[in-house]
Amino acid sequence: MDNNKNNYKDTLLMPNTDFPMRGNLGQREPEIQAKWDDLDLYRKVMKKNEGRPLYVLHDGPPYANGSIHAGTAMNKILKDFVIRYRNMAGYKAPYLPGWDTHGLPIENALSKDRKVDRKSVEVVAFRKLCAEYAKEQVDIQRRQFKRLGVLGEWENPYVTMDKRFEAAQIRLFGQMVEKGLIYKGLKPVYWSPSSESALAEAEIEYHDVKSPSIYVSMPVVDGKGILPDDALMLVWTTTPWTIPANLAICAGPDIEYALFTTDNKKKYVAAKNLVEQLKGILGWEKTEILHEYIGSELEGITYKHPLYDRVSPVILGDHVTIEDGTGLVHTAPGHGEDDFLVGQKYNLEAYCPVDSLGRMTKEAGKRFEGLFVDDCNPEVIKALDEAGSLLKSVEIIHSYPHDWRTKKPVIFRATPQWFASIDILKQDILDAIKKIKWYPSWGDVRLSNMIKDRGSWCISRQRAWGVPIPAFYTEKGNPILNKTIIEHVATIFEKEGSDAWFTMSAKELLPEGYVNEESPNGIFRKETDIMDVWFDSGSSHHGAMIERGFPYPADLYFEGSDQYRGWFNSSLITGIATEGKSPYKNLVSHGFVLDGEGRKMSKSLGNTVDPNKICNTMGADIYRLWVSSVDYQADVRLSDDLLKQVSESYRKIRNTLKFLLGNLFDYDETKNKVPYGQLEEIDKYIILKTDGLMKEVLASYDDFRFDDVYRLVNNYVVFLSAFYLDFSKDVLYIEKADDLRRRQIQTVIYHATDSLLRIMTPIIPHTASEAYDLIPHREKEDVYLTDLSMPEEYPDAVEIIDKYDRFMEMREIVLKALELARNNKVIGKSMAARVVLYPNEEYQNLIDSMQCNLQQVFIVSKLEIKSEGKGSYDENGLSVDVFPCEGVVCDRCWMTVPDTDENGLCPRCHDVLLK
Ligand SMILES: [Zn+2]
Repeated sequence: MDNNKNNYKDTLLMPNTDFPMRGNLGQREPEIQAKWDDLDLYRKVMKKNEGRPLYVLHDGPPYANGSIHAGTAMNKILKDFVIRYRNMAGYKAPYLPGWDTHGLPIENALSKDRKVDRKSVEVVAFRKLCAEYAKEQVDIQRRQFKRLGVLGEWENPYVTMDKRFEAAQIRLFGQMVEKGLIYKGLKPVYWSPSSESALAEAEIEYHDVKSPSIYVSMPVVDGKGILPDDALMLVWTTTPWTIPANLAICAGPDIEYALFTTDNKKKYVAAKNLVEQLKGILGWEKTEILHEYIGSELEGITYKHPLYDRVSPVILGDHVTIEDGTGLVHTAPGHGEDDFLVGQKYNLEAYCPVDSLGRMTKEAGKRFEGLFVDDCNPEVIKALDEAGSLLKSVEIIHSYPHDWRTKKPVIFRATPQWFASIDILKQDILDAIKKIKWYPSWGDVRLSNMIKDRGSWCISRQRAWGVPIPAFYTEKGNPILNKTIIEHVATIFEKEGSDAWFTMSAKELLPEGYVNEESPNGIFRKETDIMDVWFDSGSSHHGAMIERGFPYPADLYFEGSDQYRGWFNSSLITGIATEGKSPYKNLVSHGFVLDGEGRKMSKSLGNTVDPNKICNTMGADIYRLWVSSVDYQADVRLSDDLLKQVSESYRKIRNTLKFLLGNLFDYDETKNKVPYGQLEEIDKYIILKTDGLMKEVLASYDDFRFDDVYRLVNNYVVFLSAFYLDFSKDVLYIEKADDLRRRQIQTVIYHATDSLLRIMTPIIPHTASEAYDLIPHREKEDVYLTDLSMPEEYPDAVEIIDKYDRFMEMREIVLKALELARNNKVIGKSMAARVVLYPNEEYQNLIDSMQCNLQQVFIVSKLEIKSEGKGSYDENGLSVDVFPCEGVVCDRCWMTVPDTDENGLCPRCHDVLLK
């Protein structure tokens, strides 16, 4: 040991805190969450906020199947930001999480993953298995969501298979029935002639079959001045038996079309890019393009059916492609999903001249009547040839849907289905959309366009796992649907759940003594269809919210942008239908989570990021911080590299917190706080900067701009640690514990710590909670029990901020000069420097107006200010010279002073230790 040096380390008030430098979040977070559970933190927050205005974010229910992924995790975290913020900002914001538990994916999971054979299981037993499966999935996801640090009513969530939910859903349906919004109509579904029934998607399998592939021309009737009246529309199909049901030709609105002639001098219309290919297929010698069109120009042109005396329109649809065929799609709304949907927009009938056994009906005409569809094909081809409309017929082999039971081909056939009418509600919905506040602002246009385009909503499904449509049929086969009966069924569901529909007879489900003249023998049949799952989740404002005593409408719906088509849409329709106004006042949508290169995440590409894994390694707070850092209203990117970048800024925040906490070890806010009026100007500046941060953060949270919170906090942390926390060490470590200057700085540090932790609680609650626990004499049991509110206003705020913002510019110049001097080996450490400033008048005035120990703030040993002369470093009104400071280094504070005492102490340290 160097005998000339005295060791004064033990006399310094060095930072002291148990807050570890390394977060080790993967392990520590579960402990913090256990602490929250022990505290019953969520309940305590609710209790604290009793009597405050409610802020209701209504949770869109995720589907209960499989582990959560990057997107579902982001969704829940974004919602938790809002909930936590509102609970700290003067509201009571309960969080009732929900799950969507009915539907096909669960039926599929049972047959695929659990090898449940639906054919051999009774429907009630099958539904029981579905319910058990859904419950397990809810448990898995609940555990995963909780691990993200999301607080809410986890032990009492809403699930769509809950009895009360089902009863409320049935009642909502009853209200729509009463308003005349529910009707039965035709819609094409997979139909198996061999088993004479409709099939669900899950009951379809694909096999190769041989089919005729035919090219047909249809003559234009009215070209609307666009097409010549002798033009022929060219279409292609592999199901000639659907030609009798042709009601339209569909063009793609943005596809380029051509009118062209060939060897035979006829004028055909087809997609321009397919003309060359058609020339080869149809064996033409040459083709000549006469005119070109954009698809949208062709809308409304009419043509004549080649086999019937029927004139039909050319319509537009986005499903049209130029991959094969002619780019003009033969459209039979009774025989295809796309055809039906586009047909609805144009009010075309779901015309279906095919019976349940797959035979052509008499509407198809004498020539085809009674023929099975496959046998009808050659007959239609022959008829088209005779009519001069057939250009070519060949056989092709392609993949075609089959009945999974009978292994026979299926057809698309229009069958009776239940619909909710949108037309009646459309204007009300569009008006309601205008009153909603949208984030991002284009949301209203997006949803309006979808509603405008929307035909009737087919709400029936031919499946087992869902809420039954509470309709009965008379002996004559007519449906009975009325409010009294539905209310009766709802009462039963409320007690027994919707399984009752399958365990009880029609008679038992109908009100006692119910009679109907169409059923003279008192025999009724139950509907076997269930409701579309979008009707389930779309009823959640009743099934979950109103049912649990929440107000209608909710303040906020916050989901992925795919929900404009889904939940935002269905909820709005049912909400307008029953309550006459939107179920949400504000709507926020977020984008998808893509990989680091902007590609869709998929298991097959191997580019997924598993949030559960991130939680256990880097920590939920890192994932949450990443969520806060991105512009979530667009699609966002996530990769290990991006998470590493976020970890880096987390590390800065954590280190700053450690320093802040370390310097509060002997500070008690209730006893040691120095009032604002007694602080030095530079302290006030930091208080005001911190309050400025608070104001900006509150505004950002209010507007759901979490990336701004992230940016503001990062900037603040850098500003604070590079400036105030840097020079204040000379006071915090060196002065006596009770020294006023030290207490002033600790007052500022406490304010910064407390503000920062409260600001960060919605985003990184684990870290904020962990750090808050280590504030000596903390106020509350957890930081989440504190509030975020507008800071106090001070009369000298503007003056101080203006003055010290200018000072910060001056400081930059001095720091640059010091750096240069270090690089040029003029000095070693900045601390050992003597700095001479030559300010211009403006800077001189600034220096004169400041009450501040500039030598200490610049962290140098000596500072001189001269009115004459010029330094070696010159910049905009301030010139600086840097020299090594002459003298002796104090063994304790390392400042260079003219002389030290016999113990190697400077006069200041001498006083601190010996007085
Ligand atoms: Zn000293």
